[in-house]
Amino acid sequence: MKTCYMCKGPVELSLVEVEVRGVVVKEMPAEVCKRCGEKYFDTKTASFIQEITKCIDDKKKGYFVDIIRSAHEIESAA
Ligand SMILES: [Zn+2]
Repeated sequence: MKTCYMCKGPVELSLVEVEVRGVVVKEMPAEVCKRCGEKYFDTKTASFIQEITKCIDDKKKGYFVDIIRSAHEIESAA
């Protein structure tokens, strides 16, 4: 049985919600401390979260570039 690094409480594998850049990712496997609620992710899950973070950042960048561009187009057309 694993224990929590923070409080030495018991940790249990469960599915949790993870917030990435304000986006909630549901059903992420994590070992959660039953005492303090600290979450521990394995390497695979951690890198998946990193990928999502990067993806959101990239998409957001592209998204806002388009929005700004079309805002300028509307401005110059008016
Ligand atoms: Zn704990």
